[in-house]
Amino acid sequence: MSQNNQTQYDDNNIFAKMLKGDIPYHKVYEDDKTLAFMDIMPQAKGHVLVIPKQKAVDLADLEPEYAAAVLMTSKKVMAAQRQVFEREGVIQMQLNGAQAGQTVFHYHVHLVPSSIHELGRHAVTQADNAELAVQAEQLAAAIYA
Ligand code: 5GP
Repeated sequence: MSQNNQTQYDDNNIFAKMLKGDIPYHKVYEDDKTLAFMDIMPQAKGHVLVIPKQKAVDLADLEPEYAAAVLMTSKKVMAAQRQVFEREGVIQMQLNGAQAGQTVFHYHVHLVPSSIHELGRHAVTQADNAELAVQAEQLAAAIYA
């Protein structure tokens, strides 16, 4: 196991701070159990993260009701991505543990409008803030239409 592996939930991880409203993000969707927002270092245009409002480091900790809620929110987000970005292909990805490449230790699902043959690198290049804002608005409009 990697030395960076984290098994204890850290209340100060970046996604916990978002849920507390302590740092800004581009919201796509929210309900009582989940939050979806634009990934700040996308692997492709329109990369969204879906998180549960539960303190779960990874899949091992995720409670069934939150697992179901994350999946239902993911379906909504993917439908919006297909509509907004006019492409069928969306990768659903989720990393468990530092060894797998997980860098934020609050469970999250990646929804990346891309192809496994074209996928860019993970968490490398910061996206333009204004572009992320537009994409979040477009996706939210498609979900809430
Ligand atoms: P992981 O490597 O844990 O599967 O994915 C973490 C993701 O969180 C990465 O894709 C990374 O780009 C994204 N991320 C890291 N910090 C922030 C942030 O401050 N805001 C947003 N919106 N995404 C972030």
